[in-house]
Amino acid sequence: MQLDTRSLTESEAALDSLTDRSPLASLTWLAERFAGKAVFSTSFGIEDQVVTHLIFTHRLPVRVFTLDTGRNFQETYSTWARTLDRYQQPIEVYYPQAAAVEKLLAEKGPNSFYYSVENRRECCHIRKVEPLNRALAGQQLWITGIRAEQSANRHGMKSLEWDAGHRLIKFHPLFDWTFEQVRDYVHEHNIPYNPLHDRGFVSIGCAPCTRAVRAGEDFRSGRWWWEDASKKECGLHYTPADSSTEIPNPAPSNLQTSSASIA
Ligand code: SF4
Repeated sequence: MQLDTRSLTESEAALDSLTDRSPLASLTWLAERFAGKAVFSTSFGIEDQVVTHLIFTHRLPVRVFTLDTGRNFQETYSTWARTLDRYQQPIEVYYPQAAAVEKLLAEKGPNSFYYSVENRRECCHIRKVEPLNRALAGQQLWITGIRAEQSANRHGMKSLEWDAGHRLIKFHPLFDWTFEQVRDYVHEHNIPYNPLHDRGFVSIGCAPCTRAVRAGEDFRSGRWWWEDASKKECGLHYTPADSSTEIPNPAPSNLQTSSASIA
């Protein structure tokens, strides 16, 4: 059955009618409504680990996958391994097309993303967006770990929304949670999390494009820190209109540590 925005309206009404509107109750209803066509994308960040815990602990009918960009931190791979050990349930993985990565590095070298926003988006497209499109093909429900306070670009979003690009419903079960709620839940349930969170990393992506943030800095200031804040999306959840800005100084500074911690 082809999905359209009426499915979103029906789902919104159903969730509104639930007595229990917790993330688990909403997630359970949607997972069962879209069973066989429901997926969760994880990058093993702390919010994603909460959602993974809910899905795996309650055996929800949701396929869990990750995008391995090939540039992740070793700590991210360790978190992935610990998650498999803890839950003993499968996490599918999508890699970039080898030919596209080979062509990119042969033509522009391994660090082209530092030289312009256009180059950075090209790398994100090859390593993230294209694999994501394959992962989402034919699906009807895409679950994410996004929270409302994570980015200025995401303040116009809702916890349940229509993704016109992928023609499916997106659900962010932790949308209204604060970082403190996430941190407390992880500790309460002894959920494995990326140790980089204890070293000031809040939003963790690829190693060359992520650094720690200082106390009081914006959540996403550690991602693509050399770019204008308005350009900071990788294309997974946002399609920017302008991709022409050049970066005058491509050299990244050393990582900054922070007192921000989930410990
Ligand atoms: S975050 Fe950086 S390394 Fe990762 S895909 Fe985007 S540009 Fe490439």
